[in-house]
Amino acid sequence: MSGLTSLGAAQAGVSSGIESITDLLVVILDLNPIWWSEQLDNGVENGNGPPSQQYGLAPTLDQILIFLNSYLLIHPGNQVVVLGCLHSRSYFLYPPELINMPTDMPSDSRPEAFRIVNHTVQRAIQHILLQTSPDGEPAAGGEEKRETVFVGALSRSLCYIHRMQRESPKGQFVQGRVLVIEAGPDSSSHYMHFINTIFTAQKMNVKIDACVLGEDSILLQQAVDLTGGLYVKVENPGGVVQVLNSVFILDGAERSTMSVPEKIQVDYRAACFCHQKLIEVGYVCSVCLSVFCAFSPMCSTCQSTFKFMTGIKKRKPTDPTSSVPSPSSSSAAVAAVATKKARNGTGPNSNGKA
Ligand SMILES: [Zn+2]
Ligand SMILES: [Zn+2]
Repeated sequence: MSGLTSLGAAQAGVSSGIESITDLLVVILDLNPIWWSEQLDNGVENGNGPPSQQYGLAPTLDQILIFLNSYLLIHPGNQVVVLGCLHSRSYFLYPPELINMPTDMPSDSRPEAFRIVNHTVQRAIQHILLQTSPDGEPAAGGEEKRETVFVGALSRSLCYIHRMQRESPKGQFVQGRVLVIEAGPDSSSHYMHFINTIFTAQKMNVKIDACVLGEDSILLQQAVDLTGGLYVKVENPGGVVQVLNSVFILDGAERSTMSVPEKIQVDYRAACFCHQKLIEVGYVCSVCLSVFCAFSPMCSTCQSTFKFMTGIKKRKPTDPTSSVPSPSSSSAAVAAVATKKARNGTGPNSNGKA
């Protein structure tokens, strides 16, 4: 909020030379057409059921736009970026990436900044979905599924925040935050890239928030827990705007002043690379850290062959140092590990490589 942000900026300025803080909110929307059309189909099939229990893309988008306008309204320095995500692709909806700024904006009584955001986002979504056929196949060809992979959109969000921080004028600090609005189920493919992106966000001090419309997301729960964000599952399709405006409108610094949802118990299972299933105990390649649910003599990711300690013949004790296995051979050993423990940045991926 303006008063709180100004106060925080003034306090920060005393010690670090920062005169003002700009809050940058990156919203990632799940636009997976298969999930949204399923919702529509369910509504038609269950004609006797209450229509309020089905999500529709247009009414949900209206609620999200109200949230974006509210966010811009509470402080003149607030900025928003909106990305749309299909199964494996992501697009900048606002500011537009490839689509030119619309010139045919309807003129109404709304402030111009709101009109530009609303109209640009709606136009961009229309443009993207018209290129995608109803069964999810993009016009350009390719495979589309019911699940949405967020790793690309998350990486682009972090790159955008990093660029804004680097290009900001002296004395101005850009504080980024990412809000993922997920509709469909989790996709555990690219799990390693996903979790590395989360470690990068953790290192950049960027909070990741998640607002889930469909079933609970284990991956987003992990992301939220590791970065100190908030996770909320919306129960009522008509209540999206209430959840967004009451939980996600304030940025990290001001959150401590309001009551936010309690932290949830996070499921820290990792996804195996062979079947993309979440597992509690599995095999980890000690070279590339790929996780497998079943033993294989060769790592399918990095092609390392595994040696067994039981298969190594005992050498003659002529040289006392020769009985120690060399680091190069042991580096490809297979270890069964319990993956159900908090990584807390101490995991092997905590180097922040994405
Ligand atoms: Zn597997
Ligand atoms: Zn490997």
